[in-house]
Amino acid sequence: MMMEFRNEPFTNFNDPANKQAMQDALAKVKAELGKEYPLVIGGEKIFTEKKVKSINPGNIDEVVGIQSQADQELAEKAIQTALETFKTWQYTDPQARAGYLFKAAAEMRRRKFEFAAWMVYEVGKNWGEADADVAEAIDFMEFYGREMLRLSEPQPLVPLAGEDNRLTYIPLGVGVIIPPWNFPLAIMVGMTTAAVVSGNTVLLKPASTSPIIAAKFIELMEQIGLPTGVINFLPGPGSQIGDFLVEHANTRFISFTGSRDTGLHINERAAKAAQKQIWVKRLVAEMGGKDAVVVDSTADLEEAATGIVVSAFGFQGQKCSAGSRAIIHKDVYDVILQKVIEKTKALQIGLPEENYAVGPVVDQAAFDKIMNYIEIGKQEGTLVAGGGAAEGNGYYIQPTVFTDVKPDAVIMQEEIFGPVLAVYKAEDFAEAIEVFNNTEYGLTGALYSNNREHIEYARTRMHCGNLYFNRKCTGALVGVHPFGGFNMSGTDSKAGGRDYLLLFTQAKLVSEKL
Ligand code: NDP
Repeated sequence: MMMEFRNEPFTNFNDPANKQAMQDALAKVKAELGKEYPLVIGGEKIFTEKKVKSINPGNIDEVVGIQSQADQELAEKAIQTALETFKTWQYTDPQARAGYLFKAAAEMRRRKFEFAAWMVYEVGKNWGEADADVAEAIDFMEFYGREMLRLSEPQPLVPLAGEDNRLTYIPLGVGVIIPPWNFPLAIMVGMTTAAVVSGNTVLLKPASTSPIIAAKFIELMEQIGLPTGVINFLPGPGSQIGDFLVEHANTRFISFTGSRDTGLHINERAAKAAQKQIWVKRLVAEMGGKDAVVVDSTADLEEAATGIVVSAFGFQGQKCSAGSRAIIHKDVYDVILQKVIEKTKALQIGLPEENYAVGPVVDQAAFDKIMNYIEIGKQEGTLVAGGGAAEGNGYYIQPTVFTDVKPDAVIMQEEIFGPVLAVYKAEDFAEAIEVFNNTEYGLTGALYSNNREHIEYARTRMHCGNLYFNRKCTGALVGVHPFGGFNMSGTDSKAGGRDYLLLFTQAKLVSEKL
């Protein structure tokens, strides 16, 4: 009997045994840094001439790993391999397919600290953030495995005398999986395994800033015996192989998570039918956010201030769900702002390996982009905390807070994807909700209030895919808070929810006259 799904618990690093286990894992991984990783196509490990170095953003002299890069020729080989494998994988018993996910989840659980340590080095997560990322990856596999079992059961249809009617969910074909770097394990694993457990074969093109953690997942899937050719590992620059993969006539679907601009670009490319293409490509695109925490005059002020700071600066603000705006009722504005400034200034910045609250941003390009937004903020508002680079041999930026910004200011509208918070003083509750909705995005939001009428007003008026009351706007749990956004935040696929696998299947009805 399959146990009911339960979320993987987070690790308590105050427990000395867990602290020691994490330190051991960091030491083990450190000893493995700098190795070379191949592409994997149909089980064949391919080292190419062209390679990229994955650098530790917290200590840029440290090479985490060296990843071989695909070109179009290898991309073509991967597509043909996935097509060939689809011929058999699509008919593999769904129970058996789910079994691979359960096995992989169990193995990842055994090596939880090690996977977390890789993320500490490769993308600069602190221990807690890295641990939560691994827990979510495990959750996705446990959840989607069970979802496949549910979908493979007989589906309810209206009975008709004299007929045997059955509806089944069959896979689509070859998919291209394009994840971002910011949840380099959880999102990459979730997107990949959802497609595969549904009976599709895939090409996994990891983000160029986080290929090594993906390579470690590929090693794990080989270890647990997933048939070769089901997941083909194809690292390479999105700008060079992305269009080729998306436009290919044999590509049946694209599962993308990343920025708005890349998502829109893929959407356009995928919409045009290639020669000999015999289907309308399906696109799942989860994109950016400009999320906010709204504070009502009746809110618990301490909790609201903590919620704002955690939402804005967790993982240096590099979450699609990051609360990069705080919209505060004028009656409590001064008190909350003071608390937010104090809590922000108290955040310690330093090496992720040493588990500082705030680490580096992911690379030089991100650093430059965020610093540019900070300069824009200085023109648009009043700087009250941070405002520049922080010390360290990496891409460190001070958690930064601006006030006195207008609702249409650039830093109130554009996704910065870094530790920058814009604070707005609202005249009344209705205006606060209006300002909340005043972006092209619609991913997450939070409201702190103890006024029941206001909570009910917000329930229907705050337009975003994931809305939270009296808690932070980050940290969705698989199965508990299915995740996805509205408007330019994407196609609202609701990852970690009961609708998700349907995106990777098509329903087939077979009717037999008796
Ligand atoms: P990007 O859009 O830069 O990249 C995402 C992925 O797309 C990467 O693998 C990238 O490859 C690839 N890519 C780039 N160009 C192309 C192309 N022309 N064709 C195909 N693929 C391409 O986003 P980031 O990696 O910087 O991720 C951060 C963004 O992701 C933020 O906007 C964030 O809000 C969003 N996000 C959304 C989530 C959601 O659920 N809504 C969750 C997490 C993040 P390469 O790295 O090689 O360029």
